[in-house]
Amino acid sequence: MPAEFGIVIHGGAGTILKDKMTPDKEAEYRERLTESLRVGYEILDRGGAALDAVQAAVVVMEDSPLFNAGKGAVFTHDGTNEQDASIMCGRTLNSGAVAGVRRVKNPVDLARLVMDKSEHILLAGDGAEAFGKLYGIELVDSDYFYTEHRWKQLQAAKYKEKLTQSDYSQLDHSDDKHGTVGAVALDKKGDLAAATSSGGMTNKKFGRLGDSLIVGAGTYANNVTCAVSGTGHGEYFITAVVAYTVAVLMEHKGLSVEEAAESAIGGRFAELGGTGGLIAIDRGGNIAMPFNTPGMYRGYLLPGQKPVVAIFKD
Ligand code: ASP
Repeated sequence: MPAEFGIVIHGGAGTILKDKMTPDKEAEYRERLTESLRVGYEILDRGGAALDAVQAAVVVMEDSPLFNAGKGAVFTHDGTNEQDASIMCGRTLNSGAVAGVRRVKNPVDLARLVMDKSEHILLAGDGAEAFGKLYGIELVDSDYFYTEHRWKQLQAAKYKEKLTQSDYSQLDHSDDKHGTVGAVALDKKGDLAAATSSGGMTNKKFGRLGDSLIVGAGTYANNVTCAVSGTGHGEYFITAVVAYTVAVLMEHKGLSVEEAAESAIGGRFAELGGTGGLIAIDRGGNIAMPFNTPGMYRGYLLPGQKPVVAIFKD
């Protein structure tokens, strides 16, 4: 159903199984996803920009320990938190991104600053933080990102790394979920925007960066077609240029946003072994949220409707 404006969000895709989720945990996730939708929607409803809406919606998820971004970011092999984020405007095609930042409370805010205040698109590490400081970005101590749950995930990942193939296959992998948060929106002026923020993959090494910060892979927006944010195994998103593929299939093959999104997740990405999902909204307010994992935290809010939030494949 086309809509004049609207917002779609995700809080990560992966092995999210209903029988491993307690009712309390599920309620917490639903509450936070709903809050993120409402915060973004409210901006759109009063005539605000899609860019501001996606940024604000992502900040809500970054501030929650539940998601792999901001406060709840996963740990690297060395026990640090290195985060990636990007944001893109569908009207101007301007974008901003940050890679491997360690002390920024809200990486999506820094990505927005890179877009608005620098002459560059991508800033990394200490340099990105120094740039953010010039504009008063909030920096926090590394303790801020400590959560017991993520620390245990790192220990589990290190343990699994040492196992033989057959020992590994017998383990419970229900907690091997990816993370990342993202939002896409269409505003009343007809502008589209997308934002993505991620702690990356648990136990990552050697300064590994993911797709979340890469325009065309994890994030893309173009008013001609759609806005997209992805979550899942970043290496495959980069190889299959997933986010841009959705836009290209719409622009050059005339596919609908649903068809293009399904095809981007089900096509080369899946054939190569990629797991994950994406959210997309087109210039007519049509949305898509395909994924090939057992679950994806996701939701949307369109005019005249209640927030819709879902987790499992239902
Ligand atoms: N795409 C992110 C990355 O590879 C992780 C995720 O979404 O699960 O860094």
